[in-house]
Amino acid sequence: MEFYDIFKSSPVQKIQFRGHELFLKRDDLLHADFGGNKARKFFGFFLKDLSKYRKLVSYGGNQSNAMVSLAAFARHHNLIFEYFTKPLPKFLKEYPIGNLSRALNFGMQLIENEAYTEFISKTQADFPLDTIFVKQGGAMTEAEVGVKLLATEIHAFAVENALTELAVVLPSGTGATAVFLQKHLKFKVFTVPNVGDSEYLKKQFTELVSNPDLHPQIWDFPNKKHQFGALYPEYYEIWQELLIDTKVEFELLYDPKTWLILSEKLADFSCPVMYIHSGGIDGNISMIKRYERFATL
Ligand SMILES: *Cc1c(COP(=O)(O)O)cnc(C)c1O
Repeated sequence: MEFYDIFKSSPVQKIQFRGHELFLKRDDLLHADFGGNKARKFFGFFLKDLSKYRKLVSYGGNQSNAMVSLAAFARHHNLIFEYFTKPLPKFLKEYPIGNLSRALNFGMQLIENEAYTEFISKTQADFPLDTIFVKQGGAMTEAEVGVKLLATEIHAFAVENALTELAVVLPSGTGATAVFLQKHLKFKVFTVPNVGDSEYLKKQFTELVSNPDLHPQIWDFPNKKHQFGALYPEYYEIWQELLIDTKVEFELLYDPKTWLILSEKLADFSCPVMYIHSGGIDGNISMIKRYERFATL
């Protein structure tokens, strides 16, 4: 199978949650190694002529979904993959779990370096010609092609189902997926910041798409400050409730906050709502372990 065959479509199903019916776009099912959001964002690379490249370089957290997708991508294309991250905690170094172990199995070369944040300000121009540099989380202009395809699929779904209105909801990290989706989608996109606050997200949108009319609407908790990757009992609870009520496994970093806010907004919508499942459930193994440890404290 050609690599990009997997991007042709992802199914849409109906789910019920807290008395409301929604459409769920299963981008998590795009591919075992490239599920979801990262499949969309790295689609541009699949179209690239890679013959002149030897190496892929990126950086970020040690359980990142982007890291796994890039590692799988590099393996399939015989590229060396160097990934910079801050020094690993001892337990993780001894027993790599979750996304870290998956990426290492794909042959990723992990470089632990306290100064890895220096990469934040780097661009492709800072690397040799045989090296592709990917920003943390894949926030880059190449992400646009794949997300545009997602917009096309949503439009086709709306036509098939005679929907003239639709509200589309998805979680944000870097905001790249949400902003490119809004740029190409005729329906309104709503998103929730998970990595930084609304200000940070707005800035990220502007960096990728300068016209504010093409930005998604941001929802956030009015007062609560939530830290990315931290554990919140209400996150685990809504994740479990979703699993029981919809029979779909969501992920534990981005989805819970987004669903907590969305569930409060559902009654306000008179039009159908679609949630994009952006994948990432392979990271759940390590998150569930953390929640279990947390619960016994
Ligand atoms: C990366 C990721 C996001 C965030 O996507 P951005 O384009 O960075 O906003 C959301 N959900 C999942 C599951 C992800 O892996």
